[in-house]
Amino acid sequence: MTNQSWFERALAVIPGGVDSPVRSFASVGGVPYTVVSGEGAYVTDVEGTRYIDLVQSYGASLLGHAHPEVVAAVREAAGRGTTFGAPTPGEVVLAEAMTSRVPGLEQVRFVSSGTEATMSAVRLARGVTGRDRVVKFDGCYHGHSDALLVAGGSGVAQLGLPGSAGVTAGAVADTVVEPYNVVPTLDETVAAVLVEPVAANMNLVAPQSGFLEGLREECDRVGALLIFDEVITGFRVDFAGASAYLGVTPDLWCFGKVIGGGLPIGAFGGRRDILASLAPTGPVYQAGTLSGNPLATAAGLAVLARVTPALYEDLSARVARFAHDLREAIEGAGLFARTPVVGPLTGLYLAREPFEDPVDYATSRECAQNGLYREFFHAMLRRGVALAPGAYEIMFVSMAHTDEDLARVVSAAASAATAIRHP
Ligand SMILES: *Cc1c(COP(=O)(O)O)cnc(C)c1O
Repeated sequence: MTNQSWFERALAVIPGGVDSPVRSFASVGGVPYTVVSGEGAYVTDVEGTRYIDLVQSYGASLLGHAHPEVVAAVREAAGRGTTFGAPTPGEVVLAEAMTSRVPGLEQVRFVSSGTEATMSAVRLARGVTGRDRVVKFDGCYHGHSDALLVAGGSGVAQLGLPGSAGVTAGAVADTVVEPYNVVPTLDETVAAVLVEPVAANMNLVAPQSGFLEGLREECDRVGALLIFDEVITGFRVDFAGASAYLGVTPDLWCFGKVIGGGLPIGAFGGRRDILASLAPTGPVYQAGTLSGNPLATAAGLAVLARVTPALYEDLSARVARFAHDLREAIEGAGLFARTPVVGPLTGLYLAREPFEDPVDYATSRECAQNGLYREFFHAMLRRGVALAPGAYEIMFVSMAHTDEDLARVVSAAASAATAIRHP
């Protein structure tokens, strides 16, 4: 069966043919490839076409697909039973691995997705401060809970939506949206400031110097909690995540993606005195049948056990070279590109005129709307490179991507850029 025929079958029984809008080709056009397997840096579709994969489950897989140690850990855990409704050693050991790496992170509570992590962290912040308002930033994505979907990046931005139908005015009445990279003036009604410490859902936007420090000071001034949404950056930007990498310590952290090693997971955590307000020790209720699932914690642990600070440095160096070469290849073909880098994270912006690195959603959107990404995406796909099907996503280079894989992406980009410049 072809990609086309699988997609038609999917369309009949799954809305839009996808279980998450970012996977659809709605913003780039065409029919998505349906994946049957992945191995390291590569995925293979139902037609047997193999792609170098820069999606990597939107950052969930740090070691690449089907890493043998992760597969073995999941197999072994599955053989012991997949869920019990009782505490398991795996969740304790994963929590220990996380808290021992991230300075200031004393306790974590596991959930099953990044969405649940941010939703629960906000509830906790409101419960602890007794305040209602939450400040978020335009173009930052914090999952699909009602209060946080407003002005979200990623798929919300791809589809050109301001937020979502079905969210009541009441649900977002206490959400305040501010531009990224500008420190807002807060007051005593603010429970929390929620931010992606490196914005990675409006393409890549690095925090400008002073932004996160300014948020820390402003939160301290009015007694609000600072929440870092590290669902992408946690254990990807660095061995200890973005807070340690950037030198600013929040009150609460949200995690997901990498810590599940490719299985569904999320976590939120912070100082012990704040987490004490969670049920059963405190009044803020939060729960989950599959929370701290043994398969997910086993997979996450296999990943964290494998990585070392040196491996992150190595990956960052490889990504820096790749980002530089990619930009040169595209500009050599007569287009303009920016490939900002933060550690091992990199984004890709394309334009027909020279431009600067975007600093917020407005400047990121200017690039996303020029139509070039859509053409480039398909030209790359035809050359065996899978980028995310949307201009607001970043490129995820896993630890399985070799210099040769990345060199192949660069030469595909040179040829793709030439093709779309001279159609
Ligand atoms: C992916 C993501 C989420 C949501 O996580 P899910 O597991 O998809 O619910 C939240 N915040 C950020 C920064 C993300 O990138």
